[in-house]
Amino acid sequence: MTGGGAARRWQPAYVALGSNLDDPAAQLHAAVLAMRALPETRVVLVSPFYRSPPMGPQDQPAFVNAVAGVLTRLAATALLSGLKGIERARGRPADAPRWGPRLIDLDIIALGRQQLAQPGLTIPHAGASARAFVLKPLADIAPALELPGMGRLESLLATVDLAGLEPLESLG
Ligand code: AMP
Repeated sequence: MTGGGAARRWQPAYVALGSNLDDPAAQLHAAVLAMRALPETRVVLVSPFYRSPPMGPQDQPAFVNAVAGVLTRLAATALLSGLKGIERARGRPADAPRWGPRLIDLDIIALGRQQLAQPGLTIPHAGASARAFVLKPLADIAPALELPGMGRLESLLATVDLAGLEPLESLG
């Protein structure tokens, strides 16, 4: 893989997954499978799946969201390009509109204790602290996590509205 290479240490990372097209839960399962094939990366945990109302334009289907916990030796840029490769391979064009319907969206929420702000990559993810559909599944697999520069997950969770989130299993 180009653009980053392998960092020396294994680090925990959290990747948010979202889809609202073409059997979203199946899209998430397929993306997790593809993440298992990323180099220098092991998928350790996958949160429950949640159905959530769309962010942005409301005239689109509900999303299914989850968070995967991985261990990776990839540098942040290499992990991002691996995830973008999965998005492309899963049929999401690189120029897909922001906040529009999407087959699969993969975001790096956190990578170790890193804080990074560079063009095209901000870690922790800039929107993470305000998004119930990220914080709830993240708390399911990493309740004691602190997002560097943002705060403890427990505190962040208390600031968002969880009412729209439905665990997928309960939808019948
Ligand atoms: P979106 O379609 O809203 O997920 O935005 C995708 C773009 O956000 C990507 O092309 C990335 O360059 C950029 N981006 C910035 N920070 C992150 C991050 N932590 N994880 C994933 N993408 C990011």
